[in-house]
Amino acid sequence: MEEQTVVLIVGAGPAGLATAACLTKLSIPHVIVEREDSSASLWRNRAYDRLKLHLAKEFCELPHMSYPADAPTYIPKISRKCWFSVARDVATSVVVRYTTRFLIVASGENSAANIPVIPGLHDFAGEAIHSSRFKSGAVYSGKNVLVVGCGNSGMEIACDLASHGANTSIVVRSPVHVMIKEIIRLGMTLVQHIPVNVVDDLLVRLANFVFGDLSRHGIVRPKTGPLQLKAETGRSAVIDVGTVGLIKKGIIKVLGNISRIKGSIVEFENGRESAFDVIVFATGYKSTANTWLKNGESMLNNAGLPKQEFPNHWKGANGLYCAWLVLPWMPRISPVASCLATMHKCDVPDKMN
Ligand SMILES: Cc1cc2nc3c(=O)[nH]c(=O)nc-3n(C[C@H](O)[C@H](O)[C@H](O)COP(=O)(O)OP(=O)(O)OC[C@H]3O[C@@H](n4cnc5c(N)ncnc54)[C@H](O)[C@@H]3O)c2cc1C
Repeated sequence: MEEQTVVLIVGAGPAGLATAACLTKLSIPHVIVEREDSSASLWRNRAYDRLKLHLAKEFCELPHMSYPADAPTYIPKISRKCWFSVARDVATSVVVRYTTRFLIVASGENSAANIPVIPGLHDFAGEAIHSSRFKSGAVYSGKNVLVVGCGNSGMEIACDLASHGANTSIVVRSPVHVMIKEIIRLGMTLVQHIPVNVVDDLLVRLANFVFGDLSRHGIVRPKTGPLQLKAETGRSAVIDVGTVGLIKKGIIKVLGNISRIKGSIVEFENGRESAFDVIVFATGYKSTANTWLKNGESMLNNAGLPKQEFPNHWKGANGLYCAWLVLPWMPRISPVASCLATMHKCDVPDKMN
């Protein structure tokens, strides 16, 4: 079956939906294709139950749809007050070939689970899952669980596991900034007016005051400040949800890097060995755009991410765009709106005629 549209958007996550909203406002015809059976599938299907937005709501709004004034500052994944979307079920076996002038990559930087290569992992005797399949620690009560990765997902999953009575350990391989959400919110607000190094210095002082020296618990701060680090590498500060207190009490054990796995035994680089029933890999995600997009090299690198840095990352050649969230401490979604406004101004109306 053949169909034509002006703009084809690949991915119905927040970026794809935001793009569609902007195009609707501009009366530009478009179609969204989505590989899963719902919109915002990362949030609906691949996030743990207790998840709340890590950033305050004012930094996470979609264009043309502000959060209601009475919405919580940190929006929970599961809320009794929520938006509904009603969609037609298109689950048929019909293959549609779209012809489109403009193609927008909105398939996300979290499109596939990233699990490191570890010798012996395939023969691990217990259960090994990626954080995208973890829902709640309730089913792991009494089990020996190792969480690999100390980003926001890993630290929160470790807290959830320990709170549900799992004997929990976490692998902390690299330096990490641990913060509280109020400090990050303050930083994101201040950095709009004050140089980032000054703001970072303040944030680190505040966090040290809150947490004290965590190095004796195996958690070391990076030399670069939290907002600068995010800008340079994309690595976010960890927002503590109670994990640090459990680490200080010895309820969650901090372990170093894994060297290999033998049956149910995990060996660490420092020579330590421990048996685990479950390993949860909170080791991040990767883009899959390069697997479905052919000739996308004008815009994407080998990892399926934009070649150019913000604010020049969003446009490739021949009508190729990305609604992509590779921003530093800036609001992650709202720049989609400005990209689309620019696209409208520069390109689309001319070429539509
Ligand atoms: C645990 C966790 C916590 C987070 N917390 C925050 C936060 O507090 N604040 C924040 O701003 N961000 C947060 N993020 C970042 C998150 O990436 C964004 O919030 C947002 O989901 C990104 O939107 P997106 O539309 O770019 O990508 P996604 O939400 O990943 O959506 C991409 C969509 O494209 C679809 N897709 C992929 N490939 C194809 C294909 N070939 N064909 C068709 N469809 C395809 C996917 O199924 C998916 O529905 C968090 C992420 C995680 C994992």
